[in-house]
Amino acid sequence: MSVVCPADVYRARQRIAARVRRTPLVESPSLSALAGTRVLLKLETVQPTGSFKVRGATHALAVLAEQGCTRVVTASTGNHGRAVAYAAQALGMQATVCMSSLVPANKVQAVRQLGAQVCITGTSQDDAQQEARRLAHEEGFVFVPPFDDPHVIAGQGTIGLEIVEDVPDVANIVVPLSGGGLFAGVALMAKAANPAIRMTGVTMAHGAAMHASLAAGQPVAVEEVESLADSLGGGIGLDNRYTFLLTREWIDEALLLDEASIARGIAHAYREERLVVEGAGAVGMAALLDGALDAAQLRRGPVVLVVGGSNIDMDLHRRVTAGCA
Ligand SMILES: *Cc1c(COP(=O)(O)O)cnc(C)c1O
Repeated sequence: MSVVCPADVYRARQRIAARVRRTPLVESPSLSALAGTRVLLKLETVQPTGSFKVRGATHALAVLAEQGCTRVVTASTGNHGRAVAYAAQALGMQATVCMSSLVPANKVQAVRQLGAQVCITGTSQDDAQQEARRLAHEEGFVFVPPFDDPHVIAGQGTIGLEIVEDVPDVANIVVPLSGGGLFAGVALMAKAANPAIRMTGVTMAHGAAMHASLAAGQPVAVEEVESLADSLGGGIGLDNRYTFLLTREWIDEALLLDEASIARGIAHAYREERLVVEGAGAVGMAALLDGALDAAQLRRGPVVLVVGGSNIDMDLHRRVTAGCA
């Protein structure tokens, strides 16, 4: 018995339906030509708050609200904090968001604008998480984890459900991988629909905690490094309870990308797909452009790339798309 099962994801979909979008799956002619098979982009960029995180956060908070909770706290590299702030406002709850000083200013500002309290603390995601847990312990807020939580995983799983409904013959799904909440949720629904669906997790070459943990056979800490894919930074928690085991169970292929490749992904999204995506959202496209995905596997059938978010600083975006980042 898994801690999250497909029935949980169906229930999550009902709970979040009014506040979260069913996102479009758009075919990319240029990437389809390159891969020799249909390539579709799952556009989480159009979600309120600009990332898929609103699914898991809205689901977790909706469950807490049903239980009578009114005050939540979280730690975040940006998108989860923003999503919790949005969900709290939508559900009439009070949110406090702890972030490390590495989080870009545009993301901090966005959380404040959604009515949440922000506390900046330390220089790593683990520092921010520690502070959030302290506030939960001492002030009675309920901590909402960014990924390692069954309700968050079930919320992200609604992406997988939409994919298998909209592309029943999907053969490959490529998912950005950090803490693994997104990967675990999508893989749960994909493998339940068809165990032959190949699940690929993509992340940046330096500071990839899940990748290092999979290699080590247990959760390990890595040094945080600045990356264009800032939403993929942060540890998975040495006390990880769910996402490490679920990711290990379902991952068929794990890919690492360097910064130049992620930049090409962002530029491709903009020039060819007319999409503004953040680094973490571009890794699937980057992997395909790099030829990093197994060609024989790609020929098995349609490929879905999960494009997770659009929250990039627009000055950085301009530099990257001009080729000078
Ligand atoms: C959080 C996030 C990810 C990674 O999700 P995990 O559940 O931590 O693996 C990928 N892309 C974007 C845009 C994100 O905000």
